[in-house]
Amino acid sequence: MNIVEKSVGYKLETLGFDVFYDYSNNIFNISKLICKNCDASWFNELNQCIFCSSTFFYSYTCSNRDCLKTFSITMDKKKGNDKKKSTPTCDICNSILYKDCFNDDCISNKNTFIREEIINLTNEEGLFFNKSSFKISQHWCLKCGNNQSYYNSATLKVEVVNNINDLEKFKKNKIINNYIFYLLNNEKFLTITSNDFVLNELQDLNKYKDDLEIKNLKFVY
Ligand SMILES: [Zn+2]
Ligand SMILES: [Zn+2]
Ligand SMILES: [Zn+2]
Repeated sequence: MNIVEKSVGYKLETLGFDVFYDYSNNIFNISKLICKNCDASWFNELNQCIFCSSTFFYSYTCSNRDCLKTFSITMDKKKGNDKKKSTPTCDICNSILYKDCFNDDCISNKNTFIREEIINLTNEEGLFFNKSSFKISQHWCLKCGNNQSYYNSATLKVEVVNNINDLEKFKKNKIINNYIFYLLNNEKFLTITSNDFVLNELQDLNKYKDDLEIKNLKFVY
């Protein structure tokens, strides 16, 4: 991989794509799980409450419903007063901290019977306990609430050229959906689909930008 390819790969990763580099063809295969309704990103590693679909923010909540102070889950567990169990406790009211659902109106918080069952069944850690069966990976879109997602994927080749005259010798490859041309002397990118791959488009300097243009990429489902 050359340095331009590396920076393109890194950029795509920061935008939430799964990025695979095919070393035999020197192309990228990229994919992203997105909402079927609104195209928002979908995160399999995200946990949601099974009852109300609220997202887990990696925080503890004070078990005292009148206090409800929250603490980062990375807090020093030794701060808890109950050192034997290393159970973290609230520094205001001294109650035990749970990994509760954040939604006050969630049945897991409002219904005392259900709440006690959850505490018992989660090793007294709360709904978002690591092995809890009351949490699920993302099931509903965070933006529109839709419950269906799909993988968007694309092939992409990065071509580094000195200047636009070098582009005359390029021929597109059928297996590649998208090209990113990088002009060394201008330090600019052209993000273009195979469909739009015609020489006068490639040589139009106005189409070259300082950064990748993800919106130009063509995906297949
Ligand atoms: Zn909930
Ligand atoms: Zn408290
Ligand atoms: Zn959505």
